Amino acid sequence: MRLDFRGKLFLVSVLLVLSVVLVAGGYLEGQIREWAHGRAEAELLAQARVGRVALAYDSAPADAVADQLGAASGARVTIIDATGKVLGDSEIAADELAAVDSHSDRPEVIAAVAAGEGRAVRYSATLGTDMMYIAVPFTAGAVTGTLRVARPLEEMDAAVRRLRIALGIAGLLSLAGAVVLSGLASHFLARTLRTLVEDARRAVDGEEPRVPAEPNDGMIGSLNRMAAELETTVGMLAAERSRFEAVLESMDEGVVAVDQTQQLTLINRAALGLLSLSIEHSGSTLAERIPIPALHELVQRALAGHPERREFETRTTPPRQVQAYASPLRNQQGAVVVMHDVTEIRRLERVRRDFVANVSHELRTPVSIIRANAETLLDGAIEKPEIARRFLDAQLRSADRLAALVSDLLEISRIEAGNYEISPDEIELEPIVAHTIDEVERLAQEKHIEITSDVPEDMTVWADEQALEQVLLNLIDNAVKYTPAGGKIVVRAVKRDDMVRVEVEDNGPGIEARHRARVFERFYRVDKGRSREVGGTGLGLAIVKHLAEAMDGQVGVEPSEPQGSLFWLTLPAAPD
Ligand code: ADP
Repeated sequence: MRLDFRGKLFLVSVLLVLSVVLVAGGYLEGQIREWAHGRAEAELLAQARVGRVALAYDSAPADAVADQLGAASGARVTIIDATGKVLGDSEIAADELAAVDSHSDRPEVIAAVAAGEGRAVRYSATLGTDMMYIAVPFTAGAVTGTLRVARPLEEMDAAVRRLRIALGIAGLLSLAGAVVLSGLASHFLARTLRTLVEDARRAVDGEEPRVPAEPNDGMIGSLNRMAAELETTVGMLAAERSRFEAVLESMDEGVVAVDQTQQLTLINRAALGLLSLSIEHSGSTLAERIPIPALHELVQRALAGHPERREFETRTTPPRQVQAYASPLRNQQGAVVVMHDVTEIRRLERVRRDFVANVSHELRTPVSIIRANAETLLDGAIEKPEIARRFLDAQLRSADRLAALVSDLLEISRIEAGNYEISPDEIELEPIVAHTIDEVERLAQEKHIEITSDVPEDMTVWADEQALEQVLLNLIDNAVKYTPAGGKIVVRAVKRDDMVRVEVEDNGPGIEARHRARVFERFYRVDKGRSREVGGTGLGLAIVKHLAEAMDGQVGVEPSEPQGSLFWLTLPAAPD
């Protein structure tokens, strides 16, 4: 049987009270018995001394004196002479005295003779009961001997027994009282403890305590304070954690953390995006989730206590260039990797490198032509006018090319630096197209190229006039330049929803599909020789693309049927 807390408490209290009652009762009984014996002994001694006095003055026969003394005191009185012979005894008839054995060997008698007082407790064969004996020496005339007074212990023990019963009753009564009180105490204590336990549980669960306690209300007060402090601490920790998570999630850098066994412990949104991973990552290792050997080596180095930076490519499509810095966590608990996407930076670096190389290359050719021709002229060609003219012509063409290149370069760098101010306005398209065609008309006529415009007169666009003119000039000029003699060019415009699409279509050689997407790159030319021949710089379409995008438009090229190119430009239509 299992006892509940209250039962145990009650049992312990009862056992405690019971043992106290028993021990105290036992001790008390011993004390009382001792006290009763002492009292009886003192009484007997007094009676013996009184008897001795009576003996000294009474000349009656010893046995008669003994009987009288016995009757008066209620004790057994024995008179023994110096030899040990019993002269009188209150309990033995005179005629039987002769048969009584010598009392000289009785310890109380021996002690009385020796020390003037003797006592003993022993079983009396004569009376058949335990007796207490007190003996004193006496002198009665010529007779000397010992006067002994005795009382059965039974009398004293009866008194002690009565006392024991009284004690027992008192003990039982106090036990009953104690049982009731301890029952009450355990009931109240159990209730208080239950409240405490309940409050502690509520505190742990973050609830309000049932009984609002005063600040200095003992244990409940302490518990409440502890719960309040706990709540504050937990609240602070939660706020700290959500701040940390917010920072982590709003970072552009990818963050990945691993423990000592390379198990993933944290991976933020940016890292998931960078590595094209899904959100679920619990219970997997770095190697399982992100199979990039360079990253594993980096993490291993960091776990070994060596923070390092490294660049690698992701296994995503398209691959991304990532610069990662791994550092060990404090207490060797793992490592954290911070990853930057440097794909765009690396691309721009490459573009710039290529651009510088292209520009130097483009500049070098005309400069070396001018120089070589000047040398030839100085070497004597200047003296022959018909040859000199050819060299000077070539020099002029190279100088024009240089001028065109420098002007295009300045233009493109101005646009890219954001210094080209675009101020869009409502512009009528038709006059601008007509004006642009006029500009290339001379060259077109030379090549017998027919340019027709199919632009509705009332069509308007939302664009920057100067930029639009430059875009159209580049597209129509290219069409004239790359279309062989006798070709045809059509410029048309159509409105689609809130956009206007301008097309420049020729029936020239066209552009192969693999070149189409790239002709808008700087210095990209399908046929380098042809481009130089017609005075191209390779920058025209790049400028077109920049300007179109600056005006919220787009450009593109498509093949024309049955042959040729169709360059298109979309621009926002002017608002009504
Ligand atoms: P370029 O100064 O060489 O003309 P662009 O940037 O204007 O440079 O053009 C890039 C390349 O696109 C040209 O070199 C040419 O090969 C090709 N291209 C442009 N327009 C046409 C066209 N109408 N027909 C055929 N090819 C063209």
